[in-house]
Amino acid sequence: MSAAENLKKLLDEIGNRARLVAVTKTHSPELIKPLIATGQLDLGENKVQEMLDKMPELSPEVKWHMIGHLQTNKVKFIAPFVHLIHSLDSLKLAAEISQHAQKNKRVIDCLLQIHVAEEPSKFGVGPEEVDKFLDEFQAKNFPGIRICGIMTMATFTDDTARVRKEFRLAKSIFDRLKNREADTLRMDILSMGMTQDYTLALEEGATMLRVGSKIFGARN
Ligand SMILES: *Cc1c(COP(=O)(O)O)cnc(C)c1O
Repeated sequence: MSAAENLKKLLDEIGNRARLVAVTKTHSPELIKPLIATGQLDLGENKVQEMLDKMPELSPEVKWHMIGHLQTNKVKFIAPFVHLIHSLDSLKLAAEISQHAQKNKRVIDCLLQIHVAEEPSKFGVGPEEVDKFLDEFQAKNFPGIRICGIMTMATFTDDTARVRKEFRLAKSIFDRLKNREADTLRMDILSMGMTQDYTLALEEGATMLRVGSKIFGARN
């Protein structure tokens, strides 16, 4: 089946339960164009350079999602156009995003990346550190950022009980943080679920999925 056919099947399965970000990393603009033609405008990339290379080749209507780790020195390149940054996980990065958003006279929507997986990772705020992070975020007042929710990745494993438990933890943090909503903090988006675990993520309350291989086939 073509990528567009796979996409249609996936969208039918998701229904109105969640919004889909089609993860286009490693795939060429030629492969991506047919998806855009069907109306799939939310596209996700995990590298700044790759996003910058593809952007001019594709429709200006595309909503670009930065789903991978973002280095502070690269923020300026995507600040003029990025739709949603899923990987906010440090105050240093928040300061940089806010500054470049203001330079571009915009407010950039971001998700707080939370680390719930078993594998150690340098990226993502730990569940116990979330409140401290938000205390400092709100005290510092970054006018160029609006936090719109949470992003997380589960452990890469066939152990569905473990994955479910991690998604539940993310959902419980998401629900709890609704109590702290403010001008610069809203809990509207829970971004979790990839090709191997999106059905579990949907069952556990994801409102946004990030799926690549299921649409395009395995990456090289
Ligand atoms: C690559 C990637 C995805 C999509 O992965 P698939 O297994 O191809 O669906 C989702 N989220 C992030 C952060 C990624 O880097």
